[in-house]
Amino acid sequence: MIPEGTQVMLIDASGKKHLLKARKQMIEVGGLGVINGDSICGSDYGDALKVGSKEFLICRPSLKDLLGIIERRAQILIPKDSFSIPMHLDLGCGDRVIEGGVGSGALTLVLLRAVGPSGAVHSYEIRKDFAAIAEKNVSLSENAGSWKLHIADICTADLEKEADAGVLDIPNPWDALPNLVKAIRIGGFVCSYVPNVNQLEATVRKMRELGLDEVVAFETLQREMIVHEGGVRPSFDMLGHTGYLAFGRKMRNLL
Ligand code: SAH
Repeated sequence: MIPEGTQVMLIDASGKKHLLKARKQMIEVGGLGVINGDSICGSDYGDALKVGSKEFLICRPSLKDLLGIIERRAQILIPKDSFSIPMHLDLGCGDRVIEGGVGSGALTLVLLRAVGPSGAVHSYEIRKDFAAIAEKNVSLSENAGSWKLHIADICTADLEKEADAGVLDIPNPWDALPNLVKAIRIGGFVCSYVPNVNQLEATVRKMRELGLDEVVAFETLQREMIVHEGGVRPSFDMLGHTGYLAFGRKMRNLL
């Protein structure tokens, strides 16, 4: 049985997805109308649900589903770019990570998944209007309790000490790196995401100037393959450009 309070997703025959929180009362679902929550809480994942004349499949939303559904105002990091960040930062359960630039909170959701209920994501954001949207989106995370939002400039804020890792998605990461690198423990990684090559160059130069080791920069290209009766070929549609990632590792006492 689906417990009350869990995030549930309904998928219709065309693949359209609707998100709702399981509750034993009437639930308003955007684009669907009002449905009886008792029928959700009395079901299991994989069951079918009839709403009016339409049939839906009840399932548990994945992190990627959530990222596809959340409200976005600032440009978000998409899974192609964000999903590799926790691995490159070597994040695991219980880790403490600092994030600069929250935007819509898409990357925050990915970081929260990585650090789990015993970890902490300390996010710094200068715009209260973006932070309000992020708060709504982060509430969808099973680890929302691990999130600490700070309305402050990551370049100058008094950051947590001895954090396990740090990540920046702001226009001028080179200005924030000195403060961030100071806050990271020895052995920890920092990451920066930027959309333009000139920003990437300035970021990498700053990482080297600060004495970080293992500085590396790359972009991720993802091309879908279509498997059909006539053969197998790449998709005609491909996202040509999103942004670049740069990483560095603090291996010794710096600054
Ligand atoms: N990674 C986010 C998108 C971040 S957009 C996501 O996946 O949803 C960049 C954000 O950085 C904006 O919200 C902007 O207000 C914020 N920002 C810019 N400079 C900043 C600074 N110095 N300190 C904190 N936040 C900053």
